[in-house]
Amino acid sequence: MSSRRASNSDPNTADFIGLEYHADERVIPARYRWEGSPTEGWQIQREGAHHLDLGPGFRLLRTDRCGVCSTDLDRRFLPFPLPQIIGHEIIALDGASRRHVVEINASHEARGIDHTCPFCLRGLATHCPERRVLGIHDLPGGFGPWVLAPEAAVIPLPDSIGDDTAVLIEPFAAALHAAETIAPSAGERVAVLGPRRLGLLVIAALAALRKRNGTDYKILGLVRRPALADWALRFGADEVLPAPDPESESEPCAEFVIDTTGNPLGLEAALVASSREVHLKSTHGQPSAGLRHTTELVVDELSLQAWPEDPGQAKAVVSGSPCRPNDRPRVAWLASAPPPAWLSDRADVYTGKDPNALLKALEAKPMGLPRVDLAVVDDEAGIDAVVRPRESEEISLVRPRGQIFTRAGGALTGPLLQALHHRKLRLSTSRCGDFGKALALLVADDELAQRLPALITHRLPASRLSEALALARTPECIKVVIEHAETQQPSESTETRAD
Ligand SMILES: [Zn+2]
Ligand SMILES: [Zn+2]
Repeated sequence: MSSRRASNSDPNTADFIGLEYHADERVIPARYRWEGSPTEGWQIQREGAHHLDLGPGFRLLRTDRCGVCSTDLDRRFLPFPLPQIIGHEIIALDGASRRHVVEINASHEARGIDHTCPFCLRGLATHCPERRVLGIHDLPGGFGPWVLAPEAAVIPLPDSIGDDTAVLIEPFAAALHAAETIAPSAGERVAVLGPRRLGLLVIAALAALRKRNGTDYKILGLVRRPALADWALRFGADEVLPAPDPESESEPCAEFVIDTTGNPLGLEAALVASSREVHLKSTHGQPSAGLRHTTELVVDELSLQAWPEDPGQAKAVVSGSPCRPNDRPRVAWLASAPPPAWLSDRADVYTGKDPNALLKALEAKPMGLPRVDLAVVDDEAGIDAVVRPRESEEISLVRPRGQIFTRAGGALTGPLLQALHHRKLRLSTSRCGDFGKALALLVADDELAQRLPALITHRLPASRLSEALALARTPECIKVVIEHAETQQPSESTETRAD
């Protein structure tokens, strides 16, 4: 992506009161002062004290509006510092009041700065370990009146895309990415579990791709509340079924199930409903299906599968595992059973019981990504251990978009291992999407662009953030959008404590 230079009319200071989200879910105002420039970097002061130094590669933009999503409602469960000004689904205005959307990962690549980052260089910029994330990790977000946006991630909006469509581009891009990752074939069925804030966008994306590509697959909505059935049909589902009860012995209803529930119970229901692949999109930060680190699995976009018993299949898996086709695969073998003899001919193999020790060995050898492409473990505890080998650091032993296989020597007690081994199910995950692709599809498909704004059921001024977050949890609400006042006098904000 090419770096777009900041326009000369962008401001270089902002003084304002921002509403911060705290770990106890309260929303409390705090005074901020930001000063700097895209070339020199930015100083962030909070409550009169130094708070954060941001390097170069950020543009100061005014927030116009910002959508509320499930990540915001579950923000306290995520492993990033609080309090913070949150909100990441934004339309931002430059100094000349031109509208932009902003991709949220502030990596080296997105900031357009010089770097030798092995992640950014390998097409894994959205996983750059040094990134900050708009409204989620360190970078103040769109529920405040100003944002510091990574320069190369600021995308101007075409006039044909209205505000109510544009404010949904961040979640729509994520939805489109899931739909494209699954890519069902003609005659197959894909079910969206929990079609609400994100799930309805996934249904819309599946329907738009089906229309564009002429691939005739069936789209199902799996709902717990009947009120959502009409919504699912309106957004492009062919049929709506009740969400399965994980406790019951029901038959799978679709080859693919995309879990968008944002609920820890969603994964077990998805495992019951699917016959081939579950695609997980929820980042609720809580344990589910016997895993502690389901959210981290999604954050790193990792996949899970049973290690193939057939050596031919296993060899193909290993050969296809590096992110660049000519790189030698790296495999971490942590299963109790020994690795097959052929493995060391085809890959650099790291064996041991302690994933942190294997990670240290990779870090000591500064060649390429300090990660493996693929790990083989016994069970759920093994998965958790390779996903987050260190309590204090948000990094995995497996590279972003890598694969974890279970070898399962012992009893298959949990629903996840049973599904992976008895039914050969695959669990895939995805997080963000590509704004460029999402915009191109919306520009080309006017019906789609017109359909999306129906999701916005509530709008509130930015001063009523606390109310907006409460509203977003109620069943009658799909999407709340926070709107900032049109003429902002940054140093004369009258926002009051809103909790
Ligand atoms: Zn979101
Ligand atoms: Zn990077």
